[in-house]
Amino acid sequence: MKYVGPHVSASGGVENAPEQAHQLGATAFALFTKNQRQWKSAPLTEQSIRLFKERCEKYGFAPEVILPHDSYLINLGQPDDDLLPKSREAFLDEMQRCEQLGLTMLNFHPGSHLKMITIEQCLDRIAESINLALDQTHGVTAVIENTAGQGSNVGFSFQHIAHIISKIEDKTRVGVCIDTCHTYSAGYDLKTPEGYEATWKEFDKTIGLNYLKAVHLNDTKKELGSRVDRHDSIGKGLLGMEFFERIARDTRFEHIPFILETPDESLWAEEIRMLLGMK
Ligand SMILES: [Zn+2]
Ligand SMILES: [Zn+2]
Repeated sequence: MKYVGPHVSASGGVENAPEQAHQLGATAFALFTKNQRQWKSAPLTEQSIRLFKERCEKYGFAPEVILPHDSYLINLGQPDDDLLPKSREAFLDEMQRCEQLGLTMLNFHPGSHLKMITIEQCLDRIAESINLALDQTHGVTAVIENTAGQGSNVGFSFQHIAHIISKIEDKTRVGVCIDTCHTYSAGYDLKTPEGYEATWKEFDKTIGLNYLKAVHLNDTKKELGSRVDRHDSIGKGLLGMEFFERIARDTRFEHIPFILETPDESLWAEEIRMLLGMK
């Protein structure tokens, strides 16, 4: 593991994110490029964009280790035809913000069927939503995150993600972010040495390891297959420290960013230091 960092706050402007990450000793980071709880935000100013790029360069954060996350309001699989365009417009705006900032990835949760359509119909809608956004942007990869499968969220099975990818027209601009907490909650046993290998084998067979662009590195408070999304600090939850040592030493993932979405911010610097030291 070479690239690790938390999801830092962009309050006061996206240009404040790189310095926060740097101060924590991070070699990667995630951020929201707009208020994640609002549909609309003011456009990024020229100054914000310039400062963001300058500071990323100053602190050594290449676009490949920066993982912006989209708004929680967006549902690309929205079953209601009247509401779907709102999500699609907001997603396009998120992609365009990444483009403006010179970023190469946008991480998002696939969507929810809200018990109004089937999982397959929802996955098809998501794929179409992604295709529409890719058509109107350049250079930004849509990075689908696996979910814990809470409520009516799709994307908890690797097969769901493979289904979406199969319908993406430009496969060079679609990728996957594996959240370790979600994976375990969804029923993939990453904890044991055998389960760890079997999970990645299953990922490779179903989706393809070449699509893995990032990892959300979280421990979990909830048991295997619980389908409940509750992150825990590194080594403090059910996945446990041995799992984090195993993944930190896994040379297959050396080139990708590991993002901490762990609940106790006061531990981030220590978590980063510890993970980077696991060799
Ligand atoms: Zn996550
Ligand atoms: Zn989560």
